[in-house]
Amino acid sequence: EAKKRGAVYEMNEIAVKVYQDLLFSPAGQEARAYLKHRGLSQAIAEEFNLGLSERGGQMLVKIFEKQGFTHTEMESSGLIRVRNEGTGHYDVFRGRLMFPIHSETGKVIGFGARALAEGDEPKYLNSGDSDVYQKRSVLYNLNRARKPIQEAGFSILVEGYMDVIGVYAAGVRNVVASCGTALTNFQVRSLRRHAGEVVLNFDPDNAGANAAEKSIPILLEEGVRLRVLSLTGGLDPDEYIKANGAAAYGDALRGARGYFHWLADRARTRLDLHTPEGRVAAFQFLLPAIQKMPDKLDRLAVANDVAEYLKMEPGIVLDEFRKAAAEKR
Ligand code: ATP
Ligand code: MN
Ligand code: MN
Ligand code: MN
Repeated sequence: EAKKRGAVYEMNEIAVKVYQDLLFSPAGQEARAYLKHRGLSQAIAEEFNLGLSERGGQMLVKIFEKQGFTHTEMESSGLIRVRNEGTGHYDVFRGRLMFPIHSETGKVIGFGARALAEGDEPKYLNSGDSDVYQKRSVLYNLNRARKPIQEAGFSILVEGYMDVIGVYAAGVRNVVASCGTALTNFQVRSLRRHAGEVVLNFDPDNAGANAAEKSIPILLEEGVRLRVLSLTGGLDPDEYIKANGAAAYGDALRGARGYFHWLADRARTRLDLHTPEGRVAAFQFLLPAIQKMPDKLDRLAVANDVAEYLKMEPGIVLDEFRKAAAEKR
């Protein structure tokens, strides 16, 4: 088992190298133009070990065969697959921009892969779970971000690879992403170990807002201090920095408010806060998240903030709060 994992790590390292060499070879010209178009310098591409997978689908198989890996080992890496029809093996990632995913300690455990042409579906492909990669426990960029997270005292959680790289390239290095999966308690705990505060900075589109709404209770449950940064103009972090610059992103980051403001704003779009009923309903929408906070004093403090924010009688808020707490018991 350990030997099999060792082989997978080895193949991943080889793949990173092969993909990188291809990106900076004549065959990588179109992909390099794409990076340039996305505002990524060669230095950043190198820092993130970006690469290009070959279009034909035989390059990695051939290299692995030459190096003496067995087909079973190749398949367990998730980089190589058996043909559905006929015989033979082929490369899983073909003609895509490759983002190596590292473990917290810096081993390559998997890959994200972006299509180069607009409209090429799916836009992103990810390694499947393997002996060395469990999606639910990995955060992209935690290997580079953990020191900066400790220094800053908080982490920034974004949705995508390009967001991580865009924010990092703008000089804000305490940034990670849970790529292409719903946030898990396990992932939050691995952030929590480095700093007690998280700024959630998902895309300000429907998918991002829904993902944020699902992530908030999970973050609170693990006892993190939570702020939400919702960028203006419908731009994701990467696009926002391209449009407004690193300094504007830094300002927005500093201005990010407690999560309940964001949730209350969400409630406001659905409920009429001018009526007492609407305000109670809004509070009840916020309550399940607040109840996840493990510390009772934190819960009461936020309940008070929310009452003020919703312009509710503190008495009504406390009643609702006690009722919910009693039901929970
Ligand atoms: P880009 O800036 O390269 O267009 P993005 O990160 O802005 O990408 P979004 O559509 O906002 O892309 O999606 C956020 C994240 O969700 C992606 O970075 C990726 O991890 C994941 N994702 C998006 N589309 C897919 C897909 N079709 N399959 C799997 N994961 C996806
Ligand atoms: Mn999005
Ligand atoms: Mn996006
Ligand atoms: Mn984007």
